[in-house]
Amino acid sequence: MEIQEWEQHHIDAFCSVIESIPYLDGMFVAYNSNIDAIKHLTEADISKLIGLFNEAEIQERIEAYPREINDPLDLMARLLISMREGKAAEIPTYTSDIHEWLKGHLGFDYACMGGQAGIISNLLACLELKKVVAYVPWLSQELAEYFVAADNLLHPKVEDGRVILKPPQEAFKPDIGSKVNWILEYSRDLQVSCNERKFTVPRDNRLIISSRPKWLRLDMDRDVYEQLDSIFPIDGAMLSGYQIIKEEYEDGSTYEQYVIRSVQVIEKLKALNPELRIHVELTSIQNRVIRKAILTEIVAKHVHSLGLDTVEVANALNVLGHEELSYSVIKKEENGIISLYQGAVQLLKDLSLERVHVHSLGFYICILEKGHPLTLKEHRDSLLFSSTLASAKAFKGNIGDLSEAEVGLKVPISVGGIEGLDNFKLYCVGRRLCTEEEFEYGYLYGPDHDAVIIPSKVVDKPKATVGIGDAISAGAFTAMLARMKQKKAINVLPM
Ligand code: ADP
Repeated sequence: MEIQEWEQHHIDAFCSVIESIPYLDGMFVAYNSNIDAIKHLTEADISKLIGLFNEAEIQERIEAYPREINDPLDLMARLLISMREGKAAEIPTYTSDIHEWLKGHLGFDYACMGGQAGIISNLLACLELKKVVAYVPWLSQELAEYFVAADNLLHPKVEDGRVILKPPQEAFKPDIGSKVNWILEYSRDLQVSCNERKFTVPRDNRLIISSRPKWLRLDMDRDVYEQLDSIFPIDGAMLSGYQIIKEEYEDGSTYEQYVIRSVQVIEKLKALNPELRIHVELTSIQNRVIRKAILTEIVAKHVHSLGLDTVEVANALNVLGHEELSYSVIKKEENGIISLYQGAVQLLKDLSLERVHVHSLGFYICILEKGHPLTLKEHRDSLLFSSTLASAKAFKGNIGDLSEAEVGLKVPISVGGIEGLDNFKLYCVGRRLCTEEEFEYGYLYGPDHDAVIIPSKVVDKPKATVGIGDAISAGAFTAMLARMKQKKAINVLPM
């Protein structure tokens, strides 16, 4: 693949997507949003934290591999595991004790909007969509302040039994606490020593401690559900946050009830606009029962589009019974990209989707059901647009408006990504998924699906890494819907 051509494709796609966006009426974005407290860890911070404990006890807890954070030792164990492997992880905590402990013993550098729905709502509002309707069941006054104050970003508010759309800052629930997640970032080459074991951190990454207060429920207020028509017109919905669903709650309720209610919301949205498209953004889900329920009961047959990273592809395949494929996706060896492609195709089929968008560092793959109303070139433009957004976000830390998004065009395409794709070419041409020339365009034609693959732009020293995946999925899905609306408008207009 020629880098220069792909740079030009990025520029052309950006311009063409910007032209299409005004055709959209609006986007609905739910459910998860929280405050992220971010701390970039130094060697001194790590030594200080380790010094608060008996090092042999930390080691014992590392071996126990806690799956949730119940006390500070669990936190230390998962932090050191994450740093040793340079691997991102998101671990839940169900009490506010850890929040207090971290505030007292570490403190944070800054706080910002977190959670997929919060990040996506703010981004779409800055991309000048006519209307973005955010919905967060636990919108507190403090959290509302982290939504951008823009005329096009609204949230449902129940007033005298009637649902009206208001800026989030006027739509919060007065007596609800705030969900605060901690993001502990660390850099490559950091030296760590604990219990006479030493290691060097292999990669920049982060540990997220995700707060799950007892009152947290993935649900929609009855009035909002009953009057869901009040958020229309909208063309699409981006839904995320299902990972907070618990198998069982203290009040005796179980995940099944929340799964059923989530599906009811999706079905009602589609009934109100049969052309509406639903995208679900996945993230890491530790509990296998919940992971499987989300995939087989919420996503399968109900939603059109799924966005996820490579680890999530492996995790999804694993609970769907494709252990071998899942293993070869996670191993990330030379043929990793082939497994990733096969895995994404499997997800499209198993979950009856129209579209599966996988993002990886250096390239994105989008698998498409045959017969989609857009051409592969138009889908490619959507992915390229999202690559520009991702690099703008990595470069600047945040995208405040369209001109800041455009900065992403200056970031070079990943050489590693191009090389990875060149290796994949042999497989694709050999399997007759495409000719060499078609591969240069990024177009693949499978027996029961099509696919688009692009090299992406990667920022060498990113200012932020959180939420880039969300920006990629949101950018591409929105660009696709905008193009669909634009085509429809042009086709029905009289000549
Ligand atoms: P998050 O949940 O924080 O959004 P994900 O793992 O879902 O994280 O997505 C991360 C994605 O961001 C990667 O797949 C990659 O495509 C992109 N990305 C990560 N680092 C960079 C970077 N430095 N420059 C551009 N894109 C990046």
